[in-house]
Amino acid sequence: MKITFYTTFFLTLHFNLTILAQDVNYSYFNTSSENLKKFLLDNQNYMTGGNSENPYFQGKHKSVYIKFYNTIGINVTFDIESTKDYVTVVNEISERANFRYKYCSDYDEPVVYNYESDGGNKIRYNLEKKQISVQYPSKLSSILESNDGLTTVFVCLSKQAYAYHTNLKCEGLGNCDSDIAKSTIEKVTKYDYKICEICTREE
Ligand SMILES: [Zn+2]
Repeated sequence: MKITFYTTFFLTLHFNLTILAQDVNYSYFNTSSENLKKFLLDNQNYMTGGNSENPYFQGKHKSVYIKFYNTIGINVTFDIESTKDYVTVVNEISERANFRYKYCSDYDEPVVYNYESDGGNKIRYNLEKKQISVQYPSKLSSILESNDGLTTVFVCLSKQAYAYHTNLKCEGLGNCDSDIAKSTIEKVTKYDYKICEICTREE
């Protein structure tokens, strides 16, 4: 009995220390927006909390700035100061969330990595800004989601091309020796284009 107790205690302690060693971890992106807000309030980590401002709620946990926006459902951005922490959480997201696709619709913009948590949170980040953004599931966002067809995509207008791309900088498009057309998923799927494997591959 005693041995079991000490082992459990040790493991719990070790787990907590691991969590404390970095300012933010995957559970921040995986939980509901209500839980996250409650956590910040309980720890007195909020800064503003009106309903009229945009962001309408802001918190700071150690060196991580957390901002709540009400757009299509609730969106929260996490600005992470420490590069080490940013790299660690990006790796955690990559291990624990489901990869969806890379997205980019402008050569001047960074490629955005799109993930989804088991609870349906859409998690996005790029490698130029130390920011993670989370879009929480809501009735409105699921209506728009069923209309995913409106997402901007790209196709190479050569006769051999059969895939559409969510990432304008995709190497699959780099081989295109014809014009590149901008369209939507809804339109291109009517012409039997299938989503590009490279755009939906994580690395
Ligand atoms: Zn592609």
